[in-house]
Amino acid sequence: MKLIKIDQQNWNTGIEKAKSAYRVFGPVKEKNDYEFKVLGTNEMPDLNFRNTRLSPKSIIYPQSQVMFTYSIDETKDDCRIMKEVENVTSPMAIIGVRPCDALSFPIVRRNFDTPEYQDTYWIKAYEATTFVGLACNSACDTCFCTSAGTGPFGEKGLDVLIIKDGDDFYTKIITPKGEAFAESAGWGKKEQTDITAKIKELKTAAEASVSSTVSTDKLKNKTILDLYDAPFWEEEAFACINCGTCTYVCPTCWCFDVQDETHGKSGIRMRNWDSCMFPLFTHHASGHNPRNNKHERVRQRFMHKLKYYVDKYDSGIQCVGCGRCIRLCPVNIDIRKICDKMNNFDTESCKCEATSS
Ligand code: SF4
Ligand code: SF4
Repeated sequence: MKLIKIDQQNWNTGIEKAKSAYRVFGPVKEKNDYEFKVLGTNEMPDLNFRNTRLSPKSIIYPQSQVMFTYSIDETKDDCRIMKEVENVTSPMAIIGVRPCDALSFPIVRRNFDTPEYQDTYWIKAYEATTFVGLACNSACDTCFCTSAGTGPFGEKGLDVLIIKDGDDFYTKIITPKGEAFAESAGWGKKEQTDITAKIKELKTAAEASVSSTVSTDKLKNKTILDLYDAPFWEEEAFACINCGTCTYVCPTCWCFDVQDETHGKSGIRMRNWDSCMFPLFTHHASGHNPRNNKHERVRQRFMHKLKYYVDKYDSGIQCVGCGRCIRLCPVNIDIRKICDKMNNFDTESCKCEATSS
């Protein structure tokens, strides 16, 4: 790990230089929100944001993605043969990834890159990408990253971590990918600097600004059936309108649907983000729907993130504490409250002691 200090001018020239080797994405202000966009010539990432409305998930895993093309023209030799669409493999760099969002990529990798199954679309885009993180100097009141496996200065999932201090950029180069990025930005030969004490001070202040926490310590000890049958699901789901916003904005939600679209004699097979909050998601061709009721769908979302994933991987919850689903749910359903209810659910007396902060 190398630690260097970059001033504003070096930062600007470095980002501009890196664009000759990478497709560079960064946060850009769009109306009232920030979104990740490809940066054009002389366009700098705007780092005056708390977090983007949508996470950078879609850069690696687009909301709609063509996977195959095909023809149904019987006169052609390739009739009904699926042809794989070329994947993105040219280098990309995402500047300004917040530590919570950075952790979402190793979490999501568990789904797309397994010993039994490799999703080449996701893996190629992920491997082509360098993640340049931006530490949070202060947290929003809906952030609970410190109880979701990371923190405002978390490094997991990042190749470089930038810590902003006034006009200075303290830069931690974490991985060989990060070194290659620093080299292309012209920062590779910069002297290592001892700014450890200053970084520690900023980190302590940032962690102290995270005012929200959730309790997760007892989730593993509960049985699936006890939580599944808990009496609070109908009440918690009552206000939900099944809009799917919580899943679309979530960096760790990965569900998709596959559709064939034929126009004349040619067609595409594409995948589109889907959501466990939609009734059609589990609707069988027979007409049967195993999650026909709203509370069953809401329960699925929280059981997946806070129980099934916890049991399967034994490495924390499938949530990075970014708070987007809390901020954007139109009816104020709050994962912190539900997580605490699940964690503190007393099977014997059928009581829940919510301790949400
Ligand atoms: S954002 Fe809120 S209302 Fe919409 S599906 Fe999610 S929990 Fe339900
Ligand atoms: S569940 Fe909510 S808080 Fe957790 S990662 Fe997803 S959007 Fe963020």
